[in-house]
Amino acid sequence: MEDPKELLRKQGIYSLLDLALLIPASYIDTTLSTQIGTGKVHTFEATVQDVHPGHGKFQADFYLSRFCRSIKGVFFRATPYHYQTFAKNSTHIIQGRVEQFGGALQIIQPKTVKQAGQIIPKYKTTLKQEEIYALITRYVHKKALVAEGLTDEEADTLLMLHAPISLDAIYQGGGYRPHIVALLKFVEAYNHIKKLSVKRMDFPATASLHGDEKAFIKSLPFALTDEQLRTIGEIKSDLANTHKAAKRMVVGDVGSGKTMVILASAMMALPCKSALMAPTSLLAQQLYEEAAKHLPPSINVALVMQGRMTGDYRTADFIIGTHALLYKDDLPKIDLVMIDEQHRFGTAQRHALEKLSGRGEAKAHVLQFSATPIPRTQAMMDSALIDISLITTTPFSKSITTKLISKENFASLLAHIKEEIGLGHQVLIVYPLIEQSEQIPYQSIDEARGFWEKNFDNVFVTHGKDKSKDEVLLEFREHGDILLATTVVEVGISLPRLTIVVIVGAERLGLATLHQLRGRVGRLGLKSWCYLYSHDKSNERLHSFSKTMSGFDIAKLDLQFRNSGDIIDGTIQSGQKFRWLDMAEDEEIVSRAKNRLASVKMK
Ligand code: ADP
Ligand code: MG
Repeated sequence: MEDPKELLRKQGIYSLLDLALLIPASYIDTTLSTQIGTGKVHTFEATVQDVHPGHGKFQADFYLSRFCRSIKGVFFRATPYHYQTFAKNSTHIIQGRVEQFGGALQIIQPKTVKQAGQIIPKYKTTLKQEEIYALITRYVHKKALVAEGLTDEEADTLLMLHAPISLDAIYQGGGYRPHIVALLKFVEAYNHIKKLSVKRMDFPATASLHGDEKAFIKSLPFALTDEQLRTIGEIKSDLANTHKAAKRMVVGDVGSGKTMVILASAMMALPCKSALMAPTSLLAQQLYEEAAKHLPPSINVALVMQGRMTGDYRTADFIIGTHALLYKDDLPKIDLVMIDEQHRFGTAQRHALEKLSGRGEAKAHVLQFSATPIPRTQAMMDSALIDISLITTTPFSKSITTKLISKENFASLLAHIKEEIGLGHQVLIVYPLIEQSEQIPYQSIDEARGFWEKNFDNVFVTHGKDKSKDEVLLEFREHGDILLATTVVEVGISLPRLTIVVIVGAERLGLATLHQLRGRVGRLGLKSWCYLYSHDKSNERLHSFSKTMSGFDIAKLDLQFRNSGDIIDGTIQSGQKFRWLDMAEDEEIVSRAKNRLASVKMK
């Protein structure tokens, strides 16, 4: 036989708890019935009294000695097997749904069962049932489960699910009993967090950082929000540690003020040096401008981009740059590495971290910033791998109205666009594609462009493949009225005068993308509108989206719709990877699982 561990790995089973969580998909219960109820599945000991062969149909009259009554067994498509098996006076254990028919009891197509009084689990696996059962009985036992950190009661319940004495202990009213579901959710969360925490690798820090951020915070023209301050506090204690280099992800919605957290962190790093990497030169430039504006003039800030440099990075306190940073061989020693818009980087990011945070035994502190909101439950789980700070509020309340529109609303949309342009505001229209396509029932930029250029002044166009995208965006920021673009503007710069975004074919996009696009308008609190243009005006996902502004609620919504197998960004997202746990709902359970793991580790 193959190595059992290898066999299990092929089934996606890596830990003892993975194996314990392979809960039978169903059970075959051969417990003999003690009473008869019609419409229910029963198991009887039965003796054949009489047989009635027919045309392709075969009927056996059984006598149930326990109940002193008879019951008919009807077989359609009878074969010689049936005639042989159900010979007169032979006794069987039969199983099937009991029905009332013309005053008599009957079972259609009864099954015969080898042995009465058993509950046999049925596993969903490509291994043989006996094989998996043997592996479970061999490895999943009480001592092992308790050693994993489960309580006696939890261990007993899990064991019971693999070898129940009665199905009543498991099911109730057609479903699992609630306490069983709660237990399985807990064990699933616990197992997942436990695996993540094993993966986490920590390194000593190259330096412990104690710079002061207070004067900087005081000098700002606004007060930081409680969440900005809390996050800065968390980072402060990370950076003070020498035993462990910081490894933290700051997750905050678009406009939640992450830049101020970045700048405060650069202050806390002083007199050591820090570096900040951004995914585009436009963003790097914007960050540089903000640093120059808000940091005290004594701080030496440098900007490094391909073919462009401001200041001397070799002597700077704070180096801001794009990927171009990675190609500099003469970077000074950096003790704090920050990555902005982390979700935009992909694999380049790992490379960047390796290069910038050092290869030796000790590593620089690393902070990453992301605008992709994740549900709190997910943050809680992921924090086993990387510390997470959530910023869920924005400094000023944005006033954005989201509306679903289609063709018949086009005239009023145009009127609204004219009105906003008249007020000196700007409009962004996002198309699904650059060129016409048969597959997509919406106009492309190429098709629509003529209309806008004919009816409006100062129309700008850009898209992902546009080499001069950055220049177009900068030009538009100063002089444009309408910008036609693809979803590329997701990574765009801040456009403070933007008050209308129209998203064409909105139902084709994921909620996270829609939320990013909507976050482009009303950056500085101007009353703004997000129009979701769709042929499917009754789209439930879009309706839910239009009712909430919180990125964290949207992350939750996204999960709910994903679980139902929705189409997002053109591909079908597979459901969640948990069998029991619901990431949108089970915050309390995840939190308990996390606490349990912490207390198990203390022992
Ligand atoms: P993001 O989290 O998307 O990076 P930014 O850091 O760009 O957000 O902040 C968005 C805007 O809010 C910027 O203009 C910034 O100066 C401003 N801002 C940040 N924090 C505050 C605050 N506490 N009060 C008022 N405005 C703030
Ligand atoms: Mg930002």
